Amino acid sequence: MYIREKCYDIRELAKSNLHVHTSFSGCAKPEMRMKEMVRRAGELKLEVIAITDHFNDPSTPILEKNMCDRFVLENYRDGVETRFIFGAELSAVGVGKYLDSPEVNRALEYRLYSANHYHLDIWEQPEDKSARGYALHTLAVLTELILSRRADCIAHPCIGGYVHALGDDKGSLTRAIPDNELGDLSSLARDNNVAWEINEGEAIEFADFSERFWNIGKEVGVVFHFGTDAHTLQNMDTFKNMSVLEKIFK
Ligand SMILES: [Zn+2]
Ligand SMILES: [Zn+2]
Repeated sequence: MYIREKCYDIRELAKSNLHVHTSFSGCAKPEMRMKEMVRRAGELKLEVIAITDHFNDPSTPILEKNMCDRFVLENYRDGVETRFIFGAELSAVGVGKYLDSPEVNRALEYRLYSANHYHLDIWEQPEDKSARGYALHTLAVLTELILSRRADCIAHPCIGGYVHALGDDKGSLTRAIPDNELGDLSSLARDNNVAWEINEGEAIEFADFSERFWNIGKEVGVVFHFGTDAHTLQNMDTFKNMSVLEKIFK
C-alpha cells in the first residue's frame, strides 16, 4: 500500500515523515515517547508519520507495542491533526529470508523493509565481498522481496553504508549497479506497488547515487516516500536540510 501518491516534488514529499523510531528501538533516544512525539508532530505540522521500529528478532512484540503507542496517541492528541500509521522497519536478512511471520506482516499498517543492515550479525553476507558482489546480493534480496508482496516500501534502498567489507568507500556498492539494472529494479517495484524511500541522511551522504536513483525512478514512474529515520525529536523535522535536498531531487 502506498502512503503517498506518485509525486516528484521533494517539498511535497517532505510533508510526511514515513520513517520514525520510538524508544522501543534501542538505538533511539528515550525522549522518543508517543506523548512527546505527538506534540512535536503538531509543532512541525506533519501530515503523516509512520512509526517504524526495528524488527531484528522474530519474537519482537511489535503489534502489542504499536497497540500501546496508539492508545497513548489517542489520549494525548490534543488537537494535533497528523495522521499516525503504525508499522515496522522489518528485516530482509538475505535472499528470501525474513524475520517477520506472515501473520505479523499482514497485521502491520505499514511494512518498511531494510535489506542492507549488513553490519548486523543476523544479516547474510555474499561470498564475493567486492562492491559488485554486494551489489548483486542487494539486487537479489530486493528482487525477491518485491516479488514476495511483503513490503510497502524499501528503506534506504541499495545504499552500501552498512557494509564493513567496503572499507571507507561505501559508495562503491551503488556505483557497481549500472543504470539498466536500477531501471529494471525500479520497474519491478512500480509493477508490484512497492515504494522507494528517500532517506534524508543517506540521500545527502550518497548524493550522486540519490540523484541517479531519483531520475531513473521518475522516468520509470515509481512512488517515493520520504523519511528522516528519526531517532530524536529534533530529527523528526523533514525540512531542516531542504536546501541540500532540493539540489539533489530536482
Ligand atoms: Zn535502517
Ligand atoms: Zn530506521
